[in-house]
Formats: sequence, structure tokens, C-alpha cells
Amino acid sequence: MPTPPSVFVAVCPPSSPLTAFLAQAGPRLGGAWACERVTTLADAVKRAAQGGVQAVLLDGGAPEALGPDPIRRLRAQVPAVPVVMITPSFREDHDGAWLQQGAQDVISLEELREEPARLDRALRHALARQRADQHTLHLASFPEYHPYPVIELDLAGAVTYLNAAARARWPELAAGATQHAALDGAQEAGTALQHSNQPVVTRELAVGDRMFEQHLWLTAETHQLRAELIDITQRKQTEHLKDEFLSTVSHELRTPLATIKEFIGIVSDQLAGPVSPPQQEYLMIIKTNIARLERMINDLLDMAKIEAGSVFLAKEFVRVAPLLSHVLESLRPLAHTKQIELSSDAPEGVQTVFADADKITQVFINLVGNAIKFTPGPGRVVISVEDLENELTFHVADTGIGIEPENLPRLFEKFQQFHQVRGETGSKGTGLGLAICKRFVELHGGKIWAESNVGPGTTFSFTLPKYNVEEVLTDYLRSGLAQAKRHQRAFSILGVAIDEFDALKKRVGVEGTGQLLKAVELDVKQTVRRRAGDVVVRWQHGELIVIMADVDRAGCRIIADRVRSAISGRTYDIGSATCQVGVRVTSATYPEDAMDPEGLLRLVEERLGHAAGPAPRLLVVDDEPKARQMLKEMLELHGLEVLTAASGPEALEELKVQAVDLILLDVLMPVMDGYQLYHLLKEHPRTTHVPIIMVTGGGDRPDRALGLEAPTYNYVTKPVRVDELLQKIRVALSATPPPT
Ligand code: ADP
Repeated sequence: MPTPPSVFVAVCPPSSPLTAFLAQAGPRLGGAWACERVTTLADAVKRAAQGGVQAVLLDGGAPEALGPDPIRRLRAQVPAVPVVMITPSFREDHDGAWLQQGAQDVISLEELREEPARLDRALRHALARQRADQHTLHLASFPEYHPYPVIELDLAGAVTYLNAAARARWPELAAGATQHAALDGAQEAGTALQHSNQPVVTRELAVGDRMFEQHLWLTAETHQLRAELIDITQRKQTEHLKDEFLSTVSHELRTPLATIKEFIGIVSDQLAGPVSPPQQEYLMIIKTNIARLERMINDLLDMAKIEAGSVFLAKEFVRVAPLLSHVLESLRPLAHTKQIELSSDAPEGVQTVFADADKITQVFINLVGNAIKFTPGPGRVVISVEDLENELTFHVADTGIGIEPENLPRLFEKFQQFHQVRGETGSKGTGLGLAICKRFVELHGGKIWAESNVGPGTTFSFTLPKYNVEEVLTDYLRSGLAQAKRHQRAFSILGVAIDEFDALKKRVGVEGTGQLLKAVELDVKQTVRRRAGDVVVRWQHGELIVIMADVDRAGCRIIADRVRSAISGRTYDIGSATCQVGVRVTSATYPEDAMDPEGLLRLVEERLGHAAGPAPRLLVVDDEPKARQMLKEMLELHGLEVLTAASGPEALEELKVQAVDLILLDVLMPVMDGYQLYHLLKEHPRTTHVPIIMVTGGGDRPDRALGLEAPTYNYVTKPVRVDELLQKIRVALSATPPPT
């Protein structure tokens, strides 16, 4: 069964060659796309804002396209919709400008005429890339008319921009006078973000008795911090009430029900004395109704949880075939009693989805259960699967009583029941099943629909997107790391970056780059898979991240070397050309390098950013906040990564979770002075090899105080001279053996 066509809007004047082309080529798009033509950008925006539009096609020959920044204007107003530019003729130099404005692809009309199928491909690719770019998309969107306050700060925390909502809300900020309390900490977040490619930080802030959600991101172009504040006070209060209600209800209803079930079981099993046949029959009726009550409570609770926003997906890679056979097996007895043949034509073992297996099973159980319920026997229920480019589509088709067309639009709303199932009191539902299915499918980013005629049966279909790599990466990283922690195993990620990616992209074009990335990805997967278990990849700016459960630092090194030599030695065919690429490969391992997924990812991204290799990480221990901050900023300026601790005990805590390459230790500190800490660090196996530079008040010689042979690099005196310190750090670092 086909999926409904996706819609694209084409902005072109009635008499343009593109209009003629679209009129001709429409049927050749294979029914996958429906084109809606408009003449102005404003109309395109209006149409796209109504929703249901997957892409916009802009005719480069149209007067509209000749205005200033047409694509930027489109993207600013409907940022979620990718734009494909159709130029009258092929001009490489110009294409770059369109791409820079935010076009997902640029094709010339000549190219399209030569190969009309290219349009379908370009539209699909635009969609896929758009999905991958979702993070960066925020950056380009125009915040002025955003209903929520948007505040832009520079990294020092000074306000540089307020949108209309923010100006209205905080006039004092608009006047540049004071910073609002909600922005405290933005500077700190800014410093953190400076070292991160992760654009978004979301956190909740309490300001007086109100709650705000603050999204912070670093704008790519200006390197300014943008803070968006959403007042969530009311939402929080409601959530709290709902949560409370939910847990009370679930407990209060389920507990007595479980007890009733238990004792009915005891009676009907005759453990409490003999039961007559009529009594047995009545007990059966009680049991059936208890089962129904249980289903209703579960449905109600599911729905309430969904509405309270407290349903979370536990996603993993799920093989479709076993999931389907589990569904079929559990419903087969029911189907059998009604003489309904139950089958699946899903090809064995092909597809995998990244989904919450329990939720998807529940969707199937609901759909197949309904199909059996509303099909008088003898009949048939068939599950089938379509493997499309971006998604899998599942169909559950029955030969049952069907649904009247006028009822179809309300089908997925709550408490809708259109048929009375006679004589089957036990199977009567709550009218919530389909509403829950819809929410579960949508939580996965899919859609669900039904097609039916009265009589010849009904087909329910739903899609699950093939995985969005960015999302898989975060989910997978989080759950992989949690497992590694639980089982005390190592966990690593490997980063692979193509050298001079931007230049390469220019040279081989968008299509060529796509092909090249695919080929490199395949090579990496093959090289890695030989050794490690699971591989997830993402390409962003020519970078690829591989997740390797159960691989330690040493293992990572071996794999990294192998990947490097596998790719660097190869010549890739891309279309008519060939090309060779150089790659940088780097890795980060739990627990040595970082303790959390973000830390690992950040480290790999940073290390990839520096072609020369990872930045050494220093710990600065100083009780004096100003001195600490000054050293940190100064060293970071020179490309070092700097952690800080305000005391000896804090340093020891920090070192339990973070590995560092060098420690800068202030001698004069309260509680535990530098000398005491020095000894503790040297005694501990984790830190014994880490070089330490003492920072003394001047005059005294720490080596003497420590009773050490005096290597000349191990102390500097305050006030610290930058070049001297850097020189000593360089020497100390080059003298340490690389960690193994
Ligand atoms: P219920 O718990 O009543 O089954 P659902 O939300 O699952 O609630 O279904 C809502 C209504 O949709 C059903 O009561 C029935 O009228 C109709 N329906 C669902 N599936 C089918 C089907 N396969 N064939 C015919 N009607 C169906």
C-alpha cells in the first residue's frame, strides 16, 4: 500500500521553463511527491506555515529569486522546510552562494532535463540532510518574532540582542542597564560552550517563584551566546499535579485489583474448597471482567502518562522480524478461536529500527488485536512491511467489517468506538487503544493512518523513520555508557575526520561528497566491525563518530591505526572521478578520558578539530579564585584544556573522575597545602606519573621542601610569567611517556 505522497511547494511564475518541466515531469516522480505551485515567496511561506510541506523548490529564474537573499528569507520564516534551488543553467561559482544562504541543494534546469529523476533524489536528500542538520537549524532561524523571549549575549555575558518578546518583558535589559537574574550563570555556560560543538544547553532556572526553561546556544557565525527563556511555571505546576495524581491512581486501583485476582484464582482452583460447575462459570465471568478492567486501567494510565509528557522512549536497535513473530505468537490463540488466519509477509531479518521495542509491540498488539476483534471468522489478518528510503511502513490488513469513511477522521481520537462487538463483552475496549498507538508512533517520529471501506476490511498503516543519526548517537552513547558503568567495562568512541573537507566538498560537489562519505563510512564500518560490537556513525562537517562498547584505550589505538591506514591508502570512485582522502582519527575512552557521554563526545570533537592531536589537559589547583581564573584563561588561550580545583580535597575528588596530563599546584593553600597534596598525588597509582608544577610564593624552593632531587621544571614563582610557565609545561609534557 503506498504512503500518501509528500508535498513540495514550487515557487515559479506560470510561464517559466521550470513550471513547464514540473507539469511534464510530475507523473515521473513516481507518485512519491505532489507539487503545489505558487508564484511568490510570501505565498510559499504562507503555504509552508500551514504544515504538511516537505520541501520548497525555488526557481532561480523567477523575479522572486532575484531579490536580496531569497533563501535566507525563506529559511528564516519556515526553518523546518528545506529549500532546493533550481538554477536556469549550471554555474559552479554561483551554486556555492545559494548553498551558503541555506539551500539544501542546487540543481540546474539543464541537469533536470537530462535526468528528471534527479528531482526526486534531490528532494529526498534535502529532507535527509535537513533532518541531520536539525541542531544547527536553530542557529539560522530568525528570532525577532519568536513568541518567547530570545536574548543574545556575547561570551562575557553582555547583552547584544533582545527580540521583541524579550524587550517587552525586560525593558531594563533593553536599556542595557542591568542583567536579569535569570541570566546569571550564562557566562559560565558560555565558557563551557566555547569548547563544545554541541550548540544547545537546556536547563531549568528558578527566578523568584517562577520557573524558566533556558536554552542556550552558541551562534555559529558570531560566536555569541543566545539564550531563549520560556516561562514554564504553569507547566511545572500542572506536571507536578498530574504526576501526583497518576501515581496515586495507579497504586490505588492496581493494588485492590491484584488482590481480587489472587483470591478469585484461589477459589477457582478449588484451594479453598470444592466449587460447583455453575459457580465455576460465574468465576470465569468475573475473571474476564477483571481482565477488562485491568486493560482499561492500563490504557487510562498510558494515556494520562502520555498527556503529562512523562512517557520516555527506551530506544534500542530492534530487529523487526522477531518482534513481529512475538506479536503473532501471542495473538494466535485468540485468532484461532475465531478461525482467523494470522500471518506476516515481513522479509526475514532484513530491517532494524531504532525504537522502543515495548511501545512498538504495544502498537502492534493493539492493531492486530483490533483486526481480530473486528473480523468475523473465518477471515485473514496480514502484517506486511515496506522498506522505503527514509522509513519503514508497516501495514496491518484485515478482512473484517471495515470502518465507515465518515468515521475515519475521528478514528485516532480518544474514546471513539464505532462498533458494538456483540457477545464478546470481555473484548470490549476503552476506545483509547488507537489514540495511544498514534501517540506512541508520533513519539517515534512516525505517522499512522487507516484505509477502509465498509465490508472488505481495514488496513492500518504506520511508519517508523529510519534512524536519525544524531539522535541515535546521543541515545546510544547514553545507554552504552550506562551499561559500561554498570558492568565496569571500558567504553570508547572513535572520531574520524576527513582532511580539508570543505575544499574537497567544493571540488567534488554535493553529490560526489555524499558518495564519498558513504564509501568511507563503509570502510570504517568494515574495519571496526571486525573487532568491536556496535557501530553508529554520523557525518557532520566530514566527521564520523563510531561508538565502541567494551573497547579500552589500547584497543582503540589499534582500531584507530587500522582505520587510518585503510582509508588513507585508498582511491575512491565517485561518479566519473576518483579521489583520495586523508583522515584524522582520534578517540576518547571511559573512564580515563571522561565520565559522561557529552564529555567523551566533546573530547573527540575537540581533538578532531586540532589536526595536531588532542589538547593536553591541565588541572590548576589554587585556593585564590582570581589567580585560578587568570591561569585558566591564559592557558586556554594557548590551546590547553584546563580544569580547576579550589583546594587539595577538591583536586583529589576531581582526579577521581578526570584524567589529566599535568597538574599546576599552588603551594600555599589552607586545609591541605601544596606539599601535602603533592605527596598524596605521587603515592596514588592513578596520578603518580602525572607531572606536577608547583606554583610558589617566591623565594622558597619546593624541591627542597619536598626533599626531592631538583628537576628544574617543577616549579614557577608567583607572579607567574606566561612564557616561562608555557615553556615549563611543554618540557614537562614532552618528558611524560604517552599513556597506554
Ligand atoms: P477499542 O478499545 O474500542 O478497540 P480503539 O481505539 O482501539 O478502541 O478503536 C476504536 C474504534 O475503532 C473501535 O471501537 C472500532 O470501532 C474501530 N476499529 C478499530 N480497529 C478496527 C478494525 N480493524 N476494523 C474495524 N473497526 C476498527
